[in-house]
Amino acid sequence: MSEAPVLEVFASIQGEGAFVGQPQVFVRLAGCPLRCAWCDTPHSWVIDPLRPARIAVAGGERSEPALADPERVAAWVEEADPGGARPVSVTGGEPLVHPDFLEVLVGLLAPRRVHLETAGAHPEALARLVGPLAHVSLDVKLPADLAPPVPVGEVGAPQDASEWRAVRRAALELVADADACAKLPVAAGRTVADFEPLLRDLVAHAPRLRVVLQPITPGRGERAPDRALLLALVERAEAVGLTTRLVPQVHPLLGVD
Ligand code: SF4
Repeated sequence: MSEAPVLEVFASIQGEGAFVGQPQVFVRLAGCPLRCAWCDTPHSWVIDPLRPARIAVAGGERSEPALADPERVAAWVEEADPGGARPVSVTGGEPLVHPDFLEVLVGLLAPRRVHLETAGAHPEALARLVGPLAHVSLDVKLPADLAPPVPVGEVGAPQDASEWRAVRRAALELVADADACAKLPVAAGRTVADFEPLLRDLVAHAPRLRVVLQPITPGRGERAPDRALLLALVERAEAVGLTTRLVPQVHPLLGVD
């Protein structure tokens, strides 16, 4: 049975994307080969089997060994939401580094809805999961926002803009008719022109996908993007026919995990 490195399991409020505000249970896995400039979970990049998992359940918080099989994680989810039916959001890190684990976990958690938050850099893994998943929140990132990747074991990531273009199009086609949204992080200093290739790919490969423009939350050396840029991006996305929402991260505002 495959195991995955778990960072934390906890109940909270979804802070971003199409289900912002919804009570959910979160399963955060370690391991990410990407290096987004504005990443808010850099502690999730490296897999450290000796770092304990934080399990925050109804009865309190405790530590558990990080490497866990899907049955153990499904049990933690039940502890975090006893007798409930909250959707489970699997996040990271990049959860698609662990596709074998995820396939089993999604089955074990049924009938709970399982949502995946992914950077979309691994379309082969996404293809295995998009059917059983209830929702995919697919980040569509500017290559300029990414430092060179650092492989996690044998799992790498696109190396340049050309490789990103290929995986972006493949991932968009996989979720084009699924319950999914495309989340476009918007950092300070970018322009509408920077986003044109992403908007073109959305129109060409997933025109019905809901688009969420997400301003980067200021902090950790990042500034908030200009209001003028955000409004111009909304106008441009609507002008090319995309269903668009401008939604900041709300969990920092609420002060929740
Ligand atoms: S994909 Fe997610 S976890 Fe990985 S560097 Fe980017 S924001 Fe951070």
